Parts: sequence; C-alpha cells; structure tokens
Amino acid sequence: MSTVILVTGGTGLVGKAIEYVIENEPAGSRFGKRPNEKWIFASSSEADLRDPAQTRKLYEKYQPTHVIHLAALVGGLFKNMKYKLTFLRENILINDNVLHASYEHKTQKLVSCLSTCVFPDKVEYPLTELNIHNGPPHESNFGYAHAKRMVDVQNHAYKEEFGCNFTSAIPTNVFGPHDNYDLEDSHVIPGLIHKCYLAKKNKTPFVVSGTGKPLRQFIYSRDLAKLFIWQLREYDDVEPVILSVGEDEEVSIKEVADAIVKAVGFQGSYTFDTSRADGQYRKPASNKKLLSLTGDFKFTPFEEALNESVKWFLENYNNARI
Ligand code: NDP
Repeated sequence: MSTVILVTGGTGLVGKAIEYVIENEPAGSRFGKRPNEKWIFASSSEADLRDPAQTRKLYEKYQPTHVIHLAALVGGLFKNMKYKLTFLRENILINDNVLHASYEHKTQKLVSCLSTCVFPDKVEYPLTELNIHNGPPHESNFGYAHAKRMVDVQNHAYKEEFGCNFTSAIPTNVFGPHDNYDLEDSHVIPGLIHKCYLAKKNKTPFVVSGTGKPLRQFIYSRDLAKLFIWQLREYDDVEPVILSVGEDEEVSIKEVADAIVKAVGFQGSYTFDTSRADGQYRKPASNKKLLSLTGDFKFTPFEEALNESVKWFLENYNNARI
C-alpha cells in the first residue's frame, strides 16, 4: 500500500525544512524517504484552505493517507495585535477545513501544528503539555492562540466521536532557511539577520531592540522537520508534544545577535536600544515528554544552525521573503 503524505503550508519555513530532510536524509532511514511514500508540499495557490470546497478538492486530488498540517495565518506581535479577529477566524477556518477533510477522507494520521503562544499568560514554568487550557492566553495574540488551542479540542472530539488518529505538535521559536525576513513583521532571528545584513551593506550601525537579556528556546527548522516526521510515523496519541530544545539550551537575544554579527561578518557599530520593550524575560518549555519518547534525538548546535541559516539568506537574498 502506498503512503501519500500531504504537507499543508508546504512552502513555508517548516514545510520547506521537511522537504529538505525528506530529500537529504538517507532513503529508508528514520527521517529519510521510505520507498512506498509520496510527499506532497501544498501552497496556498494550489488550495486556499480557508475555503471548504478548495480544501475538499485538494484532498480529492491527492487522496492523502497522512497529513502534516502546517498552513496558518502567521505573523509577528504587531500584526497579531492589530488583526485579532482575522487571526482567529482565518485560522479557525483553515483548521476546521483540514481536520474535517481528513476525517471525511479517512486520513490514517493527522499531525497539526500549534505554538507555545497557546499557553496561558499566567502559568507555572516550565510549560508542559498538561497546562495548555489552564487560563487565558496573552491578550496580545489571543485570536491566534485560541484558534490554535481549538485544534487540540477538535482532535479530542474527532477521536472520541469517530476514532480519528489526530494529534498536534507544539514547537517553540523556529528559525532556518526560507524564513520570513520582513523587517516589520518577522520573528527575532530572521529580523536581526536582515537588519545586520543591511547594516553591513549600508555601513550603518546594527541596532538590536531591547537589552538583549531575554532568554528563548530556538529550534532549527531542519531539527523540527525531523521531529514532525518522527511524530507522524512513530507517535500515536492525541495528546500534543512540545517540540523544543531543552530548558538548559535557552539562548539570550544578545547571544543571538553576537552569533549573527559573526556569521554576517559585520564589523561596524553594534548597540542595544534599551528604550525598546524586552517582552517576557523567559518562558521556558519542557521537552521531557519529547525526549522520553524519541530516545537519543540530537539537536543541531545553535551556532551551527544559525550559520547555515545566515548562509542561506545571503545566497538567496533575491528570492527570500523580505
Ligand atoms: P510560514 O509563514 O513560513 O508559512 C505559512 C504557510 O502556510 C505557507 O506555506 C503558506 O502558503 C501557508 N498558508 C497560509 N495561509 C494559507 C491558506 N489560506 N491556505 C493554504 N495555505 C496557507 O509559516 P511557518 O512555516 O513558520 O509556520 C508553520 C506552522 O508552524 C504554522 O502553523 C505556525 O503557526 C507554526 N509555528 C511557527 C513558529 C515559528 O517560529 N515560525 C513557532 C511555532 C509554531 P503560501 O506561502 O503558499 O501562501
């Protein structure tokens, strides 16, 4: 029996990383392509998943036996704050259409993607899979967060009523090739890579917003890709799994900026604008459940992953999302 794996959001940061891993890991290995597998990486131009008819058509075309659902309206803090209803509604529509089409087409396995933004604002740290619904999310992104939380609720309901094998992943901050490098609306690493590149090119200072002290867990998109492949093939439970490096691998924003300066080869003036808000000092997530299930998963060292990401950006500047 052949296995058809549909990756929604297959053209984004995480989708491209899954494609890379499937093509570059040895065939037949834990994360490589298996002989009976056909992988489909769908873009929004092929099917706008906010629309049930287009979603159904995509499923009819490919008849996926397995789905990794990454497609989402994604954005930085500013966009999330400004368009709360849009983030809520569009993500609810996308998720409902994908989950229901997966049910109707008897998809054997569906792994959807949440985010650590779903966690309550006031919560005990480290974050664990058990406290997703224990209080309201931060008000800045409550639209996106509630839409994503609802996927976990739907997964349980589809399992209880219809026995569906649906589950979800909760990644921490992702970075890597094919990121969104928009200066206004990107995450911290791609935003700083782009800023540092421009500072070098224009011989202007490289100014990092905030004190540089906050700590974050960053996961390299190609490591995350392997974990999605693991979850699709080896994890059969509805409860979500946090996909992250360990709490002992938090990196400060200053360490991120230092590594970017080195990778870009920037030698000009480099400062921190301490008048800009820092955000939360740290919000560690536990990867204990993940490690207990995967065994010996090896994460790429942060600097190595960052160097690869910067190299990709420099080589692909003309085609990157900037
Ligand atoms: P990107 O912004 O890089 O990619 C988003 C993908 O979703 C693109 O392939 C895009 O297609 C697709 N998409 C968006 N809207 C629609 C639509 N209406 N119909 C069909 N496809 C659509 O996102 P990431 O790769 O960063 O994110 C992937 C998943 O990971 C998301 O669910 C996100 O919430 C989650 N996540 C991301 C984190 C991060 O740090 N980046 C952290 C935690 C979770 P196209 O480009 O063709 O328009």
